[in-house]
Amino acid sequence: MVVRLNVASTCVGTSALGPGFRSVVWVQGCPFRCRGCVAPEWIPDVPARLVGVEELAAELLADERVDGLTFSGGEPMAQAAGLAELARVARQVRDLSIVCFTGFTLAQLEERPDAPQLLSEVDVLIDGQYVRERDDGLGLRGSANQVVHHLTGRLADVGYDFEHRERTTEVRVGEREVALVGVPTADLLVRLAPVIGGPGRSRRTR
Ligand code: SF4
Repeated sequence: MVVRLNVASTCVGTSALGPGFRSVVWVQGCPFRCRGCVAPEWIPDVPARLVGVEELAAELLADERVDGLTFSGGEPMAQAAGLAELARVARQVRDLSIVCFTGFTLAQLEERPDAPQLLSEVDVLIDGQYVRERDDGLGLRGSANQVVHHLTGRLADVGYDFEHRERTTEVRVGEREVALVGVPTADLLVRLAPVIGGPGRSRRTR
């Protein structure tokens, strides 16, 4: 049986969403409604791009420099089984680190029967919903309430400060949209609003 994911968008090769050179999957659909979410068009649980994990893995690894995957959204844990399979398939091709964002807390995930299979593939989990009042403009997490969990030691000693590093954001200009890849600061969003046409056109992980 082909395992499919409902994908909002992808990015092959970025330095803005974790250590190294990574490919990113943003899944479609999120059960949360965080105030200030910068990707509200990815909240509805509606069909977007339905793609098999084998095809998606090949796409994400097309650049041989890619050494990690980042899962964001939307809510990755809403598609935990599919993303776990994607991680397994991709790791059969190449040794990869996995970073995953989620609006659930790790304690909440322990109550979700489908979460452990994805957690077992994840090196770093960044958990909790985005709280605009606690967005301090630092780190790979969107707000200071979110917790960085090193579920393995793989990315613990690579010199990457997930909590306090200066944020970097890449601006990608496509034929039909301008997209931000990374965790932009609030100030950057304000300055780029005339270009990206408002938050709905940009991408930011929580
Ligand atoms: S910030 Fe993340 S968890 Fe919150 S509504 Fe947006 S996609 Fe969902």
